[in-house]
Amino acid sequence: MTNLTQNALENSLHERFYFYGKNVLEWKRKCTLLLPEIAKYRIWEKKGFENIYEYARILAGMSANAVNAALWVGRKVEDKPELKKVVEEKGIGAIRPIANLATPETDKFWAEKAREMSKHTLEAYAKEFKKSCPGAKNYYENQILFSDLNMQVKAKIAEKLQKLKGQGSWDDLMEKFINLYEQKLGENKPIPQENAKRYVPAKIKNYVLVKTNNTCAFPGCTKECKYLHHTWRFALTKTHDPDTLIPLCKAHEHLAHAGLIENESQPPENWKIKLEADKTSEKWLKADKWVAEHRKPSG
Ligand SMILES: [Zn+2]
Repeated sequence: MTNLTQNALENSLHERFYFYGKNVLEWKRKCTLLLPEIAKYRIWEKKGFENIYEYARILAGMSANAVNAALWVGRKVEDKPELKKVVEEKGIGAIRPIANLATPETDKFWAEKAREMSKHTLEAYAKEFKKSCPGAKNYYENQILFSDLNMQVKAKIAEKLQKLKGQGSWDDLMEKFINLYEQKLGENKPIPQENAKRYVPAKIKNYVLVKTNNTCAFPGCTKECKYLHHTWRFALTKTHDPDTLIPLCKAHEHLAHAGLIENESQPPENWKIKLEADKTSEKWLKADKWVAEHRKPSG
């Protein structure tokens, strides 16, 4: 066989596999969407199957988990036509993070989000959304006990802390510590680097990471920092400013670039999740688009 015919053969094998594979996924989604009604009318029984699991396994190769997920999502989107469309386009995984959250009133809103966002980003967004919902437990306003912080200290340190607190409150003592620590950090704050290259200089990077000890700065998040995020988009400023470079985990960085963080120009303790992206600042969006296309972890 010549090289040419060999190439043609390989291409044709690939083309066919690709074509069938694409149809497998699409047809699987179609089966998934039919299943809730199959269950409702007990069609499996009328066709002589033991139960719906057997029906779906024998006829479509679906696992029991897949059947359960299909029935669950089916119930969730029954009264939500927009989300139903998303399921048809992207499969049930695409709406799973928000299936419990969406209502007929918010159907369109969530369908838009599920179309735009990756599953990962949608998950983080849904989590923040739940927190900011009226009626949801707002932990910013509550007192947090040491046990909630999962703080464990050696007996010797506990004794010292107790003495330092004395007749005062833990709040006062901790605030004192924080102020002192921040003051100390501030003394070594590097100056911003202007006309910079993409790469963040080690001095600035270290300063920024020490502030959260390598953790995402989004309120309540305890994930490891994956990106140094420029709240004043680097693509526009070409500056690495230690005050506006914020360590973020993957999900929160994606939310920032989706324009979904409120008060982004303020320190992160004031950040909240936005319900709608700000679509007025074109320049910003352009920069975010650029970032999305050239995404690379910093450092
Ligand atoms: Zn985070």
